[in-house]
Amino acid sequence: MKNNAPILPGATIGFLGGGQLGRMTAFAARSMGYDVAVLDPDPDCPAGPMASRLITAPYADADAAAELARGCDVVTLEIEQIPLATLETVAALAPLRPGVEVVHMIQDRGRQKSWLHAHGFPVGPHRIVESEAGCVDAVTTMGASIIKSCFGGYDGRGQARVSGPADAAEGWRAVGGTRCVVEGFLDIADELSVLVARRSDGSCAVFPPARNHHVQGVLAWSVTPTGLDITVERDARALGRAVAEASGIEGLLAVEIFLLHDGRLLVNELAPRPHNTFHATERACGTSQFEQLVRTICNLPFGDTTILNPTAIANMLGDLWTPGAPDFRAALSVPGVRLHLYGKKSARPGRKMGHLSGTGADYTHALIRTLDAYDALGGAQADRTSMEPHALSGRERP
Ligand code: ADP
Ligand code: MG
Repeated sequence: MKNNAPILPGATIGFLGGGQLGRMTAFAARSMGYDVAVLDPDPDCPAGPMASRLITAPYADADAAAELARGCDVVTLEIEQIPLATLETVAALAPLRPGVEVVHMIQDRGRQKSWLHAHGFPVGPHRIVESEAGCVDAVTTMGASIIKSCFGGYDGRGQARVSGPADAAEGWRAVGGTRCVVEGFLDIADELSVLVARRSDGSCAVFPPARNHHVQGVLAWSVTPTGLDITVERDARALGRAVAEASGIEGLLAVEIFLLHDGRLLVNELAPRPHNTFHATERACGTSQFEQLVRTICNLPFGDTTILNPTAIANMLGDLWTPGAPDFRAALSVPGVRLHLYGKKSARPGRKMGHLSGTGADYTHALIRTLDAYDALGGAQADRTSMEPHALSGRERP
């Protein structure tokens, strides 16, 4: 039996993971009058200052997770790499949203790919391999490929791009020499994402898609609305919704989608939590993704997902802190721009330290303002190659 009872303000929401996604969700929970408890291995985690109770322990520590769950009315997560035993321990003590099954399916890239394929969702050519020989064989069949480790990769980490079989063994070793998905290198025109909120009673709310630009496998910027053909947006939304419904998730499901030059939409990967490409919802939509997560797991009515202000975001990686802190004043002098910092103490290269958001009259205006502010930070200049969608016109429908 699903429990659809509302969990009202005053209750306590627990978070497995206290990174920036937990921090921003905790802000939303706090402003709605909820109390917040967090479990994270790092005592200085970004969500720590938002929590009345911070438990510092590894995610494999089921006793610590039980301690978290006992004090909470509902528990959510901001990272999918939580051991199964920990998820099961929490779910036995408090409603865990999203639940064990969907997180378990998503947390292994191979299992996730197989699930998508088995449910009839479009995915690119791929093979799950367990050995170096299997990897070389897969690359021999597929040609230029990306080798992605099944566990623990994010922001392009745990991945190796190979041009052919000669590099395959090295690629296999570079990603750790464990179970991998080998994916054929796709002819991507544009990258989109869709975010679906789904409640225990099966009802869904879908955010309008975001269009995303990656540099070396890491999200550089994202914009909503996408500027893409309305039929592409409609198809992407329908695809995201169908995946969320089939998964039975309770909470948020982010669906990363590739739009190929031949017009096909393929599902890239899933995330059962708030997503970097929907940070713009804080300013673009009637409801942020973070508030929507709180509403969803507490069985409250969904908030409005309509776009009220075209908005872009640009990620700030740790590289921008070399040699010193970025020029925040210069960035903030650009009209419509805001600064979002995650409170991380050490700025390692590649680490997501914060983002800039910018609103404008339309997506181009919002993106120009955001990237102008990014350039004003004083680091490497923003990559402006994909500001307009590649598939804007002349797209052939399959
Ligand atoms: P992560 O978990 O690090 O986000 P992804 O699988 O989403 O990993 O890959 C990161 C980025 O790498 C994607 O957003 C896309 O830009 C690029 N990419 C991933 N898979 C492919 C592929 N099969 N073909 C071409 N580019 C890809
Ligand atoms: Mg991704």
